[in-house]
Amino acid sequence: MEFRLFTLIFIFILPIFCFSQENAKTKYRSPLGIPLVLAANFGELRPNHFHMGLDFKTNGVEGLSLYTIEDGYIARIKISPYGYGKVIYVNHPNGVTSVYAHCSAFKGRLDSIVKSVQEKEQNFEIELFLNPTDIPVKKGEIIALSGNTGGSTAPHLHFELRDTKTEEAMNPLVFGFEIQDHKPPIIKGLKVYALTEQGYQVPGKSKIVNVSKTNNDYHIPGDLLTIPSDYCSEDGGIGFAFEVVDQFDAAENICGLYKSTLRIKNDTIFRQQIDKVAFDHSRYINSHKDYHEYTVNKRKFHKSFKTQHNPLAIYPTLDLGLIKIKPGEKLSFIFSAQDVMKNESDLEFNLFVSEGKENTSNSIFPTWLYFQPDSTIQLKNDKIEFTAQKHTFYEPTKKNLSLVAPFSFGDPSQPIQYPVSVKMKLPSTKIDVSKYYINVLSEGSKNHALESAIKGDWIEAESNYLGIFKIKIDTIAPSISPLNFNVSEAIKGKNRYTWSVNENQTELLDYDLFIDGKWSVLEYESKGDYLFFDRPKVLLGKHKVEIIVKDSCGNVKKWSNEILF
Ligand SMILES: [Zn+2]
Repeated sequence: MEFRLFTLIFIFILPIFCFSQENAKTKYRSPLGIPLVLAANFGELRPNHFHMGLDFKTNGVEGLSLYTIEDGYIARIKISPYGYGKVIYVNHPNGVTSVYAHCSAFKGRLDSIVKSVQEKEQNFEIELFLNPTDIPVKKGEIIALSGNTGGSTAPHLHFELRDTKTEEAMNPLVFGFEIQDHKPPIIKGLKVYALTEQGYQVPGKSKIVNVSKTNNDYHIPGDLLTIPSDYCSEDGGIGFAFEVVDQFDAAENICGLYKSTLRIKNDTIFRQQIDKVAFDHSRYINSHKDYHEYTVNKRKFHKSFKTQHNPLAIYPTLDLGLIKIKPGEKLSFIFSAQDVMKNESDLEFNLFVSEGKENTSNSIFPTWLYFQPDSTIQLKNDKIEFTAQKHTFYEPTKKNLSLVAPFSFGDPSQPIQYPVSVKMKLPSTKIDVSKYYINVLSEGSKNHALESAIKGDWIEAESNYLGIFKIKIDTIAPSISPLNFNVSEAIKGKNRYTWSVNENQTELLDYDLFIDGKWSVLEYESKGDYLFFDRPKVLLGKHKVEIIVKDSCGNVKKWSNEILF
């Protein structure tokens, strides 16, 4: 009965699905006026997130016209020195939102609306949600200029398609933008793991073999991978991960895997296909990729198995991908990697388990040594409190716990899904409490100043990092000095004025520019630690210029001078 129902649904849904995709293929225009060349594709592995769109090259320059891909209206814009920088969201009548990020400037009516809101709020960083009648746009209308703002490190257009209702990011390549691709995915490595029945990696039991290409086939040495008998256990199984990347015709840029299948003969063990990702699931990439290989060895292994708590919608089946095999047994596998254009690469290999004893230990992750993913963790005394909600950890993780100074929580080399909350008792001899903040010393001896709040005698913060926690004091204001001009010289006729700004301990929280006492837009480039002001053509002659910068602990620095524009 169930089978029949499934078949019926399949028969009815499939043609609609195909039709809508076919329809979509002819529908959208390109967001750029030059041929589309990819620097990055959808689903690429990044730190703590999947790449949620396509990165189009812009000939290495800023200022190319950006065109709306379809009729619609500008629904949202945001300006930030981080992340997407200057970004536009356009809603289309078919329920899709297109996103244009890292812009250098907005055009037309949008530009004047943004400027007036910035002036009203006296803030460069704004976010606007607009109504359908505010700024309707036509297909092919120029709405912005390409740029390099926010987290972008080279000029390009980051372009996304989202489901307007659910806000899930969708793979734009499935919608048929014209990008030549005849290059199949490249398979570079194979890793085998001993796994528990929940799909957790058994410590110390994994092995990498390199994959090489001869003619058009991929191979491992001797086409055979042998593992010790103690990789096997009664409840657990074996799992694989594959290091796979992809490329497109027009550029050498290394892009990400779209689709893969692991089979034993005709039985599919595991499938993965990245068509859409919800933003609140994107961090589960830490569970999908081999986190250690990614962070330590910069290798991009995609697991062909998952843990039972991984909710990513990139796995078409419910299988965990656990392979059951016994000492002395041999199995033959086929791994296939495919891109959106259906270019395919295959790796055939055999797995043999040596004769010998299985692993019989039933305490692989003892609770005195490991935090367990399934439980809420709360640990406290009169000086410190650490809380981690359920499923903060993807797998059992070494505790590294100290509830006496220096306070520590968790293994800094392990990723977390949700921030942990930290509360620390303030010292009894108090200075101005606004100067206190919590610092975490994490992976790679990196210090992270946490956005902290004072509650009575306690200071608290949420941390995306594990490590050693300490209360610190910041009483030093950011520094600011002219970068591309000298006030003592005649600087008439300059169009852009820049100042370097540095905050060593915490973060630059606020920055304002006043010309003759009137607030003016001052932009912050977080990557280069500088502020800049673009002089309007009408601003000439001698004017009093004042800049006020402030850090997260409220330390303020002023810079003022007369400038001859
Ligand atoms: Zn991007």
